[in-house]
Amino acid sequence: VQERSTDVLIIGAGTAGLSARKQAERLGKSWILVESGPHGTTCARVGCMPSKLLIAAANAAHDARRGAPFGIEVSEVRVDGRAVMQRVRAERDRLVDFVLQDVEGLPADSTIDGHARFVDAQTVSVDDHTRIRFGSAVIATGASPWIPGDLEPIRDRLTTNEQIFEWETLPQSVALFGTGLIALELGQALHRLGVRVVFLNPFDDLGPFSDPVVKDKACGVLTEELQIFREVEYETIEAHGDDAGVRVVWRCADGTQHDEVFERAVAGTGRRPNLDGLDLERADVPLDEDGRPISDPTTMQLGDRPIFVAGDMAGHRPLLHEASHEGRIAGKNAAQHPDVDAVSRFVPLAIAFTSPGIAIVGQAHRDLDLDDTIIGEVSYDDQGRARIMGINQGHVRIYARREDLTLIGAEMFGPRVEHTAHLLAWAISCGLNVDQALGLPFYHPVVEEGLRTALRDLRNRSGQRPSSDA
Ligand SMILES: Cc1cc2nc3c(=O)[nH]c(=O)nc-3n(C[C@H](O)[C@H](O)[C@H](O)COP(=O)(O)OP(=O)(O)OC[C@H]3O[C@@H](n4cnc5c(N)ncnc54)[C@H](O)[C@@H]3O)c2cc1C
Repeated sequence: VQERSTDVLIIGAGTAGLSARKQAERLGKSWILVESGPHGTTCARVGCMPSKLLIAAANAAHDARRGAPFGIEVSEVRVDGRAVMQRVRAERDRLVDFVLQDVEGLPADSTIDGHARFVDAQTVSVDDHTRIRFGSAVIATGASPWIPGDLEPIRDRLTTNEQIFEWETLPQSVALFGTGLIALELGQALHRLGVRVVFLNPFDDLGPFSDPVVKDKACGVLTEELQIFREVEYETIEAHGDDAGVRVVWRCADGTQHDEVFERAVAGTGRRPNLDGLDLERADVPLDEDGRPISDPTTMQLGDRPIFVAGDMAGHRPLLHEASHEGRIAGKNAAQHPDVDAVSRFVPLAIAFTSPGIAIVGQAHRDLDLDDTIIGEVSYDDQGRARIMGINQGHVRIYARREDLTLIGAEMFGPRVEHTAHLLAWAISCGLNVDQALGLPFYHPVVEEGLRTALRDLRNRSGQRPSSDA
């Protein structure tokens, strides 16, 4: 066994770990980066990027099919599943290559392949070949698909995000378990590519929504296009045929029973932090009753130990830009420990690239104290530019503090909300109130004008006199 020592040990070479490493280097510390799986990051290999590539193909097919209202006839739209998946992989590989080039550029003796586990509060072993003594450590081990007990009988047939982009071609039919962000993105894309997709969920969640009005609208629009069954009771979930097929029998709340066979089953049932096999209990760090590390989101530190967490593993905000930010916070604090800085976090921003799009900005409806909040809203069903483009479906609600009309959050379902959500996130970050936001320019005709409608609605509902003529 090789004995090594370093100032900063980083476990996991994903987005968070790579970002932490940069900080250790910048602050002139020695570092070692340990990775147990393939390099390239979840985002580029099996996450954000290939899913957006699949969605891009799906939207090309969808746009080709929806020309009629504009007087455009397309006689036949044929989806070549092999070509779709080939482009997804080719572009994905190009993106992964950029990450691999970065990793290959690192000093070879500072990157170690293998599974890291804690031996004690100052030592980690990597497989059975290396022991590393560290001054401080950043744990950035990511998350993995979580498979609920219901799906145990078909566990070995389930496709997760780890395998789906390796499909050689598209299947005829898919049982998609889950109705969260990742499930909706992948399921809508497959549907638009001609796959028969049935979404199943024993609960009533739909994406990330907690605002009943926005959720209702999203439910109406999405169920017009997609076969979504929520609050189902599974009666049978079993393997079917020799290949990857499954049979599912489920009962809906209205008592109807469905019995269907699918060529593939896809799990979009959530992700859980990768803690298994880390032996965290040996690291002398604070853990909750389920064995998850308790970290301060402003420092990413575990208690007062020289051990920090970052990214999906930390369990705060499992999103790419947050993984990168947490990596920076954890890496810097690990490098300068015991000098630990508290950093204020971004305004929360989560987006799903469905169409219409989905976004939650700042405080979600579930976080609000409704007595202290004014809500303004806009329907996109008749919004000018959205109607011009034939994408006029959606509803957005914006929340402001009653006291001074400072913007605090929004739940959004509508056209191009990936962009309008950013405008709101920036406005909230700058502490703008409704009048200040209304005092900013809105070009015409753009979907952003929908935000202005919601802001005006909010101000009208406040009963307060505007501080300008906006
Ligand atoms: C299908 C899908 C789509 C997504 N789309 C988006 C999106 O559009 N926008 C967005 O913001 N986010 C999206 N996400 C989430 C985003 O991908 C993650 O938040 C982000 O990649 C997390 O980065 P990370 O560094 O925490 O983890 P990872 O990149 O997973 O890195 C963790 C690394 O740690 C390694 N590791 C684990 N255990 C050990 C160990 N014991 N020893 C050594 N190494 C170990 C793993 O092999 C892995 O390489 C998506 C995720 C999925 C699955």
